[in-house]
Amino acid sequence: MSVRVVARIRPLLKAELERDIVVQGTSSPDNDSDGGIDTIRIPNPRNEGEDFSFQFNSVYGMQATQDDIFQNEVAPTVKHLFQGFDVTIFAYGVTGTGKTHTMRGGKTLSERGVIPRLLSGIYRRSRKLEKDSQGVASVEVAMSYYEIYNDRVYDLFETPEKRTSPGLPLREQNGKTFVVGLTERPCLSLKEFETLYDQANVNRSTSATKLNAHSSRSHAVLCVKVSITTGDETRVSMASAIDLAGSEDNRRTENGKERLVESASINKSLFVLAQCVEAISKKQARIPYRESKMTRILSLGQNNGLTIMILNLAPVRSYHLDTLSSLNFANRTK
Ligand code: ADP
Ligand code: MG
Repeated sequence: MSVRVVARIRPLLKAELERDIVVQGTSSPDNDSDGGIDTIRIPNPRNEGEDFSFQFNSVYGMQATQDDIFQNEVAPTVKHLFQGFDVTIFAYGVTGTGKTHTMRGGKTLSERGVIPRLLSGIYRRSRKLEKDSQGVASVEVAMSYYEIYNDRVYDLFETPEKRTSPGLPLREQNGKTFVVGLTERPCLSLKEFETLYDQANVNRSTSATKLNAHSSRSHAVLCVKVSITTGDETRVSMASAIDLAGSEDNRRTENGKERLVESASINKSLFVLAQCVEAISKKQARIPYRESKMTRILSLGQNNGLTIMILNLAPVRSYHLDTLSSLNFANRTK
């Protein structure tokens, strides 16, 4: 069981100015990965003469490409999946810092995010395994995709009109937690996966907050089940990729009542997530994964697997306080 925490500073957007950059990444000479820098410096907002610095497993600066993130951080996990280990990847950060860009990405090949690249890696390895074993081994890939909104679970293969207000119930079986009634779709190819994934993404809850017109107030949890059958034995492993709800300070977004209910449940689940990641990274015996729905469904830290937390950051001053609180959040998980 292990955890990597990596930070990614997104580039400036059109309306942002070079002179407003406050977050700096520093290169470390012994880091061989591209764009790899492993310290982040940010001024103390109360005393700009003083810098805070934070260390992570790796740090990606404004020039880092989607391919850099995938090749260095995620591609190696495909091997783990095929060895039977689970892989869980979170994108944590304030709205507008690049979580969805990192996980899902844009339409063009070079802008594709971690998720389609991971699937592409899974299919490539599947074909190779099937070929090398001369048809003895076969691999099946299936996906489920849900969101957790106000601590309720909604199937993203259902349109929002079909949702029942309490969401889908959870059930325990043989010590494992399942979402009852969750759709699982087989995906025979990358193309098929992408079609289903795009369809399901249309059903995500978005609403306008002051920070971002399409601010995501829900955690989107994609689970990819990889089943490898050799003879009469099937081994299953799970890759989960989670685009977390925005971690912004809710006092600043001037939330109304509905937003406040959302915020309370977002804050709680992010808090529990941090506690779980911290417990895993410190190899503590007790991981409080039962204390939120998301960590409970993921059985976070209960399997022998790998967890990657990507901390998305914006470089500019308008995010200064939020950036600092994201850095402090991630720092606690080490
Ligand atoms: P979040 O999901 O955290 O709210 P988004 O992924 O929607 O943030 O990113 C906010 C904006 O910044 C989007 O317009 C996105 O295209 C852009 N963006 C984020 N990261 C990058 C990046 N690495 N390169 C180019 N544009 C980016
Ligand atoms: Mg987003």
